[in-house]
Amino acid sequence: MDVLVFGSAIVDFISYANRLPKAGETLHGDKFSTGFGGKGANQCVAAARLGAKTAIITKLGEDLWGANYLEQLQSENVNVDFVQKCQGQTTGIAQICVADSGENHIVIVVGANNLLSSEDVKQAKKLFETAKILVCQFETPLNATLAALQAFKGISILNTAPARKNTPSEYIKAATILCLNETEAALTTGMDKVTTLSQAKEAMEHLLEMGANNVIITLGALGAVYVRSDEPEMFIHVSAFAVDKVVDTTGAGDAFIGALAYNLAQYPDLPWHQLIGAANQVAAYSVMHPGTQTSFPKANEIQKVAV
Ligand code: ADP
Repeated sequence: MDVLVFGSAIVDFISYANRLPKAGETLHGDKFSTGFGGKGANQCVAAARLGAKTAIITKLGEDLWGANYLEQLQSENVNVDFVQKCQGQTTGIAQICVADSGENHIVIVVGANNLLSSEDVKQAKKLFETAKILVCQFETPLNATLAALQAFKGISILNTAPARKNTPSEYIKAATILCLNETEAALTTGMDKVTTLSQAKEAMEHLLEMGANNVIITLGALGAVYVRSDEPEMFIHVSAFAVDKVVDTTGAGDAFIGALAYNLAQYPDLPWHQLIGAANQVAAYSVMHPGTQTSFPKANEIQKVAV
């Protein structure tokens, strides 16, 4: 097993309207679409598309959407031996309304995702023993995420998303690699904002002080920066891939993490600037295509750059 993901699966219901409804108002929209999402499943599918042998530990409801999601994961060649359908629970859903201006309203009901627990880590002991890379996020119960990180002896990536204030340092210390975007970096460190390279450097210094081992901060069109625990004075910036036209940035961070996990599993000795360059390339592809999982490339859809 290359990449094991312990995390969420959520179905997106997206309505498009010329503006957002006011409280109590019923508004007619002009387009509707559904999409498979949830940061855990997104990152897993991103790695699987590139050719990683992947498995996900997640929970779905015993409803139509749970059945659909299970089929979707199987069709992406993700191992679903530890995907459980929970009786009496709904599959996680996100109800999203997007206005012509690009503004949105989102209501998420995580449903069955909330039942993921440290018991699931114990039950999947074999996967934890055999996988090369573990990927976790904050969209599932935090104590279960910590149990997963602590049970794993290989390389673990913690994507601290969605952003939360005052992340306890035990989470920061538990992961081999902490991967955050600008918002998550600001909230985790208590900084006002992290948008420039110098702010990102300051955030990484904070995170190292908090006990982080290795840190990557993604900076949208600026690419990403990283610092490693074995060279704490070296803050390296890897530029983003040039993109002709930004079509849809949703899922870019998940594409980045899926690609990072895939390349770490396949090429563990690759220098980090190449590893992150390859993740930038996959994320750039995602930015140029619509949707979330629909925007992730297969290996043959991107030129080989870094490896
Ligand atoms: P998130 O999707 O979590 O908000 P970011 O916005 O930091 O994450 O984007 C993740 C990665 O996607 C970046 O590190 C970069 O590689 C790529 N990316 C995002 N926006 C662009 C862009 N406009 N042009 C090129 N690459 C981009």
